[in-house]
Amino acid sequence: MSDEHVNLAHARTHQQAKVMERIIRDGRCPFCRENFLEYHTKEILFETDHWLVTPNFEPYKGSKLHLILVPREHCTSPEELTPVAWADLQDVVKRVRAGYETPGGSLWMRFGDTEYTGASVRHLHAQLIVGASRKEGGEMILTALGYKDPKQRPAQE
Ligand SMILES: [Zn+2]
Repeated sequence: MSDEHVNLAHARTHQQAKVMERIIRDGRCPFCRENFLEYHTKEILFETDHWLVTPNFEPYKGSKLHLILVPREHCTSPEELTPVAWADLQDVVKRVRAGYETPGGSLWMRFGDTEYTGASVRHLHAQLIVGASRKEGGEMILTALGYKDPKQRPAQE
């Protein structure tokens, strides 16, 4: 089940699904700057000319820091970002790393058709995640990055 802006099949929590149902009814992109605070209940930590930075609506369990970095202008693929926006993203990451304890983390984006990615919101966004150290003994933080090709499944599986 999907629509133009969100993919309800990829909601991870009941609360997230409720908000996504409202977004579908409203027919608006939840990550475009003018709509952002209508649906996102976490504070915007800071903004630059091209990005806004905010905690993830539903942080991954066990993460110490889970931010989303959202382009202020609507886009759905990395190649739509201008060189200036890419440079600005580098500054955003520097600012996050200067402001938060980030000895190691992950920075990644899903793009395009959400049926291929597991993304809930189509508007491009980067996830910045910092967990604990392996030495602290916790489980790994895992998430969906797409769907496995069933034709590649080994016969023994
Ligand atoms: Zn948008």
